Amino acid sequence: MDLNTQSSAFNVFSNRAFDNHEQVVFCQDKDTGLKAIIGVHNTVLGPALGGTRMWSYRSESEALTDVLRLSRGMTFKAAVTGLNLGGGKAVIIGNSKIEKTPELMLKFGDFVHRLGGSYITAEDVGMETSDMDLVRSVTPYVTGISEEMGGAGNPSPITAYGVFMGMKAAAKHTFGTSSLEERTVMVQGIGHVGESLVEHLSNEGAKVLISDINEERLKSISQKYNAKIFEGDLYKATMDIYAPCALGATINDQTIGQLNAKIIAGAANNQLADEQRHGQLLKERGILYAPDFVINAGGIINVYAELEHYGRADIMRKTENIFDTTLNILQMSDREDITPHQAAFNVAQQRIDARKGGQ
Ligand code: NAD
Repeated sequence: MDLNTQSSAFNVFSNRAFDNHEQVVFCQDKDTGLKAIIGVHNTVLGPALGGTRMWSYRSESEALTDVLRLSRGMTFKAAVTGLNLGGGKAVIIGNSKIEKTPELMLKFGDFVHRLGGSYITAEDVGMETSDMDLVRSVTPYVTGISEEMGGAGNPSPITAYGVFMGMKAAAKHTFGTSSLEERTVMVQGIGHVGESLVEHLSNEGAKVLISDINEERLKSISQKYNAKIFEGDLYKATMDIYAPCALGATINDQTIGQLNAKIIAGAANNQLADEQRHGQLLKERGILYAPDFVINAGGIINVYAELEHYGRADIMRKTENIFDTTLNILQMSDREDITPHQAAFNVAQQRIDARKGGQ
């Protein structure tokens, strides 16, 4: 498909997701076939850190909107987590399984390097630690590299642990106890993060339901952790907790009216298709939403260790702290009668504004 034929809806500054990005860089290299977009949303708290996603986007505008939404999300994730990092993200347009070559990754690293450290990359969907190791050979502005290369290794188990902590905080707020024993939890997407989350839930004695498009994975995870494979329409199923760990925007106009859960707490980025409207609708329906960018911050805590040179014990302690951060935000949302998403956003924005004002 020629992506350039789809340019009619192509906007940058007026794109709804643009939201005051400091810089958006379009990178192209004919020889390697690289087409990438780097979004640097905000660098007030520090360099913009965020992973690189390689995906077969249906159009250039879809890729642009994705990078902008993700990059903006990283600003608030780092700020609410208390890290001295700004928000950025990159997307490479293409199928990572067949179009990702070492040459392409090295060229991408070149482009990252040219930004002089205002953007620091890491892995995201379609990327492996080994890709970051390659990028490291052309620029120091990369995290998520392998332990052999001096990095903090795979962030997914840490992300899962943070989500587990956030989920427990949401349970405490809703049920009065943080224990998830006997709670029915639906994990949608049992990939790198989802599997690790299933393990924590299973150890806690929760009734775990799993859903994925990968049948083989469903079978193996089900056997390994004694989780039940869910069949049918997930959005109509009865559950205590819905944990989206696959794709973003699963809380949308189609699903929100059907959802039969008391809590939403998962790893996926940008779970609410429309943050304001869907956040408010969840509140009205009495479904507690643990903001994604608060509870899935374990991964960024893990890669931040590479920049700040802290070790495993600190990584775990900071990730465990997601419990308190989430609980505080949920209490604030009650006190101020605002959605949890808005409360988390306000905490993050206040931190950015304070730094901007030199406080
Ligand atoms: P992954 O690619 O390893 O796993 C995603 C899983 O979702 C796969 O098993 C896939 O088959 C499944 N899936 C895809 N479409 C689905 C659908 N329609 N229904 C059900 N399952 C579906 O990704 P991951 O690293 O586990 O990340 C999961 C989510 O968490 C992503 O949205 C990612 O952006 C977010 N996240 C990940 C990290 C991290 O450290 N890996 C950190 C923060 C946020």
